[in-house]
Amino acid sequence: MKVFKGQNILNLVKELPDDDACKAYLSKIKWMDGFKCSKYGSEKGCEKAGYNYQCYSCNHVESSTANTLFHKVKFGLQKAFLIVFEMTTSTKSMSSIQVGKRYGISQTTAWFFMQKVRVAMQSSQKYPLSQIVHVDEFVVGGKEDAKQGRSYDTKKTTAVIAVELTEKNKIKRVYVKAIDDYSAKSLTPIFEEHISTSAKIFTDKWRGYSPLKAMYNIEQKESKKGRNFKEIHVVVHQIKSWIRTVPTHVSKKHVQSYFDEFSFRMNKSIFKENIFHKTIERMINSKPIYHNQIIQKLTI
Ligand SMILES: [Zn+2]
Repeated sequence: MKVFKGQNILNLVKELPDDDACKAYLSKIKWMDGFKCSKYGSEKGCEKAGYNYQCYSCNHVESSTANTLFHKVKFGLQKAFLIVFEMTTSTKSMSSIQVGKRYGISQTTAWFFMQKVRVAMQSSQKYPLSQIVHVDEFVVGGKEDAKQGRSYDTKKTTAVIAVELTEKNKIKRVYVKAIDDYSAKSLTPIFEEHISTSAKIFTDKWRGYSPLKAMYNIEQKESKKGRNFKEIHVVVHQIKSWIRTVPTHVSKKHVQSYFDEFSFRMNKSIFKENIFHKTIERMINSKPIYHNQIIQKLTI
């Protein structure tokens, strides 16, 4: 199949000029290795009008969007493609308010769809950070200004961040995880999910990291008000200023999806040519997620 490459929005519209063209694009990805009936697994079928497939053995007709993250997108696939394009190829994505205005859909509709894209942006956890890795914690969100004397702390999110550096201290990759507190138990998952046991890890002197030393190669050093972890603070600053531009309040239960989006864009920034296609591919290969699941955060 002809894969879309690059960051030029005019080329995207030229190559995928309408909903049908986008549907055809999805069907090529979905059945790249041939048709497989989602009901009973039969592999014999034929293409039907509208880029669907019909199974020979059970007559089930399946569309290219069924059982994927494009399931039941009601505002048209071309708009959906353009939103994915904006979220992946730009440096800072767009807010759901801006997306709503630009594509003539409600802010809520835009937000739900964007949450689905963020599901596809979750790390596969297949490529843990393996070189020089700095780990630190930070706090994001909540009202900066609490002069009325009320505590806004419940709206703040605590997070832990792992940054992989090159030997010349250039930032290579980043993972961020929302945590409940700074205990060793809460700090452990980012190590298990995103850091290789062969990595050379640096943290500050916080005792929550000590138990992890049994498993990981961790060196604890004074933070010196962040001066020893300059690179990590650059990234934390970017995350905070980006989250501040999200006009609606980023609730504690959804903040992880924003961290996933941020890390995805940063980690794939050297693959910008393919980032749009790769995200579409991930959305086709992911199970659908429904609005009530997004609200209840059952899967994200
Ligand atoms: Zn079948």
